[in-house]
Amino acid sequence: MMTKREQFYRYLGLPSFNPLELDIVKAEGVYLWDRDGKEYIDLVAGITVSNIGHRHPAVLDAIRKQLDQYLHLNVYGEFIQAPQVQLAVKLVSLLPSPLEAVYFVNSGSEAMEGALKLAKRFTGRTEIISFRNAYHGSTHGSLSITGHESLKNAFRPLLPDVAMATFNNGRDLEMISSRTACVVIELVQAEAGIVRAEENYIRELKKICDREGVLIILDDVQMGMGRTGKLFSFEHYDFVPDILVLAKALGAGMPLGAFIASRNVMDTLASKPELGHITTFGGHPVSCAAAMAGLEVLTEGELIAEAEMKGRIFSEKLAGHPAVSAVRRVGLALGIDLSQVGKRNDFQQFSLEEGFVIDWYMFRPATFRLAPPLTITMEEIDKAINKVLAALDRLL
Ligand code: PMP
Repeated sequence: MMTKREQFYRYLGLPSFNPLELDIVKAEGVYLWDRDGKEYIDLVAGITVSNIGHRHPAVLDAIRKQLDQYLHLNVYGEFIQAPQVQLAVKLVSLLPSPLEAVYFVNSGSEAMEGALKLAKRFTGRTEIISFRNAYHGSTHGSLSITGHESLKNAFRPLLPDVAMATFNNGRDLEMISSRTACVVIELVQAEAGIVRAEENYIRELKKICDREGVLIILDDVQMGMGRTGKLFSFEHYDFVPDILVLAKALGAGMPLGAFIASRNVMDTLASKPELGHITTFGGHPVSCAAAMAGLEVLTEGELIAEAEMKGRIFSEKLAGHPAVSAVRRVGLALGIDLSQVGKRNDFQQFSLEEGFVIDWYMFRPATFRLAPPLTITMEEIDKAINKVLAALDRLL
């Protein structure tokens, strides 16, 4: 008999030949347990998905209730499905005007595809401007606007008429013109290792886009849903995007993505041509039910407000360690630079041995990701910090 590990390599298509290989049998809150009963603290929340922890009881309840009613009924947008409608109403109640129409899909990449098509359709223009070191997804469209050549080169030709700007560089804003359909931006570039947009820069971006009739698409896939200390990252700025893209933590552990715009903008996807964007499984009722429960948990308590304080504890305790050269942080999202690039594999190994899970930012190779569930308690933070310090000590 082959082991699970052997079958994993024999039968699965894999995105890398260097996976973590954890074989988890149960997850709850901030904890994961493997087949041998070893416990790990999940310090990346399944890559910023489990913002309210794994298997939150309110989410499990909502899923169970929906299982007793229906699963897939019909393609998205044909039937009135209560879980989708309720979730859209709730999201819009939490958003400023004119973000009032929610289009549900299955993932971040897919939400970005929908947003790009919507911007082209609404403006009648083709040029898309995005930023170096931004990650927006792996489908052809979202990959085209991803700002790192290493991921893109092997797959050209990609989408035409895409221009790359340098983040926080005011001069590059001159690229924006009346030919531009949209600018796609993250207010905190996650995969660059947590790099925040400057307020003046966003003010200037908004001014130019307004002047030229250009839509701003905010990719809040990773930094949305409370991660930055606000429900949506744009709430830290004096600015509302034209199209907001959400996924990851939105589904509270279930697959769900969304792009959100004004009614006026959104309606252009339904005419000339009709069916301008369609999806079979978008807004799956079980995902929407889970998302609704998750959103209630996130917004009812102090979880989001506490993200800043919890993040600060991590950065204060870890920044001074001699194996760490810098820490960048927004809310409870940290990018921690190891002093030595070559120690990455060692640190990965030590983290698993000490019993915690981290990950690496895609475009910053010696920077590890620390983004635990927002539900992490003070006791768990203490325990996690001790483990991370122990793993860092082993690098010296
Ligand atoms: N945008 C950002 C900022 C992301 O971090 C990701 C996923 N890492 C995506 C888009 C794509 O989301 P998905 O993997 O759900 O397609």
